[in-house]
Amino acid sequence: AAKHQGRNRFNYFTAAMQATAQARLQLAGELRIALAEGQFVVHYQPIVDLKTGEIRKAEALVRWQHPVHGLLNPGEFLALSEETGLIVEIGDWVFHQAARQAELWRSRYRSDFQIGVNKSAAQFHDEKKKIQPGNSTQWEHAGAALAVEITEALLLDSSPLVAEKIMELRNAGVQIAIDDFGTGYSSLAYLRKFEIDYLKIHESFIHQMAPHGNDMALCEAIIVMAHKLGIKVVAEGVETPIQRDWLVSAGCDYGQGYLFSHPLPAEEFEALLNTRLRA
Ligand code: C2E
Ligand code: MG
Ligand code: MG
Ligand code: MG
Repeated sequence: AAKHQGRNRFNYFTAAMQATAQARLQLAGELRIALAEGQFVVHYQPIVDLKTGEIRKAEALVRWQHPVHGLLNPGEFLALSEETGLIVEIGDWVFHQAARQAELWRSRYRSDFQIGVNKSAAQFHDEKKKIQPGNSTQWEHAGAALAVEITEALLLDSSPLVAEKIMELRNAGVQIAIDDFGTGYSSLAYLRKFEIDYLKIHESFIHQMAPHGNDMALCEAIIVMAHKLGIKVVAEGVETPIQRDWLVSAGCDYGQGYLFSHPLPAEEFEALLNTRLRA
């Protein structure tokens, strides 16, 4: 009986694994179609000056308007996009949308308006393969209208080409933000090596913030350290007025989160800018 059961279990797992591989293959195919047919959209989430409440920046966040499954968040397709290398094309597309949008909002609202664009390690590594000088030309034109959001893990990569890539961005005037700061188990040595403009404190530190708790102490220490190094701090995942008020008192520069707004389609983001500016 045990043998029989064992064989059934074996068959079961084989079937499940095949189904998974098939599902992944299908998703990869659908991702290619999505690129070709323009099913991706970019949503924009405001980043506010915590002292004044003004919208100063936005983060570009990709979504997939799937014909059957509806609007999908990156959590549902980003990993496979990275594994298949499709993230490079998706990322380029997001970049162009964000650059165009930043230009428009700079001319309509404020000349220093900036959009943060996420760039995952897979995108840097692809560019590493084809070593050619013209690779980041698109970024060079964007300059200070864009900030690139990268994670600590990328800065741990000892490859000189990653460092070179980051320096190129810097030289083009693109600002550098460390995303999900505090979750990377990394050394802080890179803060010496690279000129970083922003640290974005991961939402887990903001959410667990209890009065006089360790997370509050950590946030405070991050803000003090960053400011001593000339780095501005963005708090991610700000959801309550209590969190905001505490961040203001701790001297945090910017906030991003559902308290201010969810990520919005460009037209809705623009409507929000209009009401905020009139108020
Ligand atoms: P991230 O860069 O850390 O972006 C912040 C995430 O937190 C977003 O999730 C945003 O919707 C979510 N968020 C915003 N406010 C709150 C809040 O108050 N509470 C909570 N719990 N969450 C909040 P999203 O849009 O699902 O994106 C997930 C991740 O996918 C991003 O994390 C980023 O790493 C990646 N991503 C998004 N767009 C792109 C892209 O165009 N290219 C690349 N390479 N990665 C992207
Ligand atoms: Mg980000
Ligand atoms: Mg983040
Ligand atoms: Mg994140």
